[in-house]
Amino acid sequence: MASAGSSPSVDMSAGTTEGTSQAPWQRAATGANLLSPDGELGVTIFEEMTTLALSTGAINLGQGFPDEDGPVEIKAAAQAAIAAGANQYAPGKGVPALREAIAAHQGRFYGLYPDPDTEVLVTTGATEAIAATLLAFIQPGDEVLTFEPFYDSYGAIIGMAGATHVTAPLLAPDFLPDLPALEEAFSSRTKIVLLNNPHNPTGAVFPENVLAKIVELAAKYGATIVSDEVYEHLTFGVPHIPVGSLPGAAERTITISSAGKTFSFTGWKIGWLSGPQHLVSAVRTVKQFLTYSSGTPFQSAIAVGLALPDDFYTGIATTLQRKRDILAEGLRAAGFGVYTPSGTYFINVDTAPLGIRDSVDLARRLPGLVGVAAIPVPVFCHPEGAERTRSLLRFAFCKKADVLEEAAARLATLKDRL
Ligand code: PMP
Ligand code: GLN
Repeated sequence: MASAGSSPSVDMSAGTTEGTSQAPWQRAATGANLLSPDGELGVTIFEEMTTLALSTGAINLGQGFPDEDGPVEIKAAAQAAIAAGANQYAPGKGVPALREAIAAHQGRFYGLYPDPDTEVLVTTGATEAIAATLLAFIQPGDEVLTFEPFYDSYGAIIGMAGATHVTAPLLAPDFLPDLPALEEAFSSRTKIVLLNNPHNPTGAVFPENVLAKIVELAAKYGATIVSDEVYEHLTFGVPHIPVGSLPGAAERTITISSAGKTFSFTGWKIGWLSGPQHLVSAVRTVKQFLTYSSGTPFQSAIAVGLALPDDFYTGIATTLQRKRDILAEGLRAAGFGVYTPSGTYFINVDTAPLGIRDSVDLARRLPGLVGVAAIPVPVFCHPEGAERTRSLLRFAFCKKADVLEEAAARLATLKDRL
């Protein structure tokens, strides 16, 4: 069931890297599904759908960002930090208060105790953490294994690094890995297994037996585990288990998270990673030459956020679960097949019950038809996976309840407009 990445057919004569026929930006574009069939560069699906939502006045349930800011005390802390002059470069590995707060958070929620000085790194969003980690460890010829559908930047960075992207499918209805297919996707060239748990776009939350299998296979093949856990606090009635907390995992695992999702400040781009010193210091070397350091006043503010009491964390999940239920009910009433997620702020639907086979086409028409924007799942896939997910569409529910109710009312009119 594993599939290697597609190779595009655009002319790559200029700016190529040794051993490949494409410039890194072109490999990035292909990995992120940006190139049109005639080889022109497009924009990410998130940008395309947000631009379409803005130009049509549609409710934007496409790109995943909340329509309300996070806690006032975190905002006040950033404002105070700016006023107090925390406006020059931060230390490359992050301000001490934030590194300590990240270490304390890992201990408080998961019983993991990274050393804030040597085993924690602050990054410019989870995006930079992913990029710096992959660039630190992979070379042309290596394989990176992800699940499919996969978050778009994974394919792009793997492509830029000149590595081969191998995938293992997550299939409806539960979108959990098929363990024999996962085992088949590993090989002696697997350098990294990059997982995202809770998973965007499917909303799956991986149970312990799946994580244990990943650890077992990573150990067997000598692969490093990179775990993107940006939705760690957004789960509904199921626990989030960091793969790094499993027996035998700590020494080979880098765990990534971000303030964007937990605290609803996606625009601040503060992320972080933790793991054993030998891995973190390699990533830090790369980070130095990507961004050197990350936004100083936002770092101390996020340290305040990470220290918020437990009821903040349970509160965000409870609120989001209510929003999930509002949108799920609306989508069901509109005639879609609904896959209720256990985590993240995304819900996937099957458009086939409405007689629609092609979710990419529907996503482009939906804002004009009913005034709602969504993201087609095939864009998170290689061609084979895109075929499997051809009728799946992703809606974000990190919006105010009345916005979701209005979106549901608009979607209810879809059947009559097709
Ligand atoms: N990983 C996943 C799975 C995501 O959905 C996102 C989107 N926010 C990111 C990484 C990027 O996070 P950040 O905005 O912190 O760079
Ligand atoms: N993570 C967000 C999503 O999946 C989008 C972030 C971005 O635009 N790159 O919707």
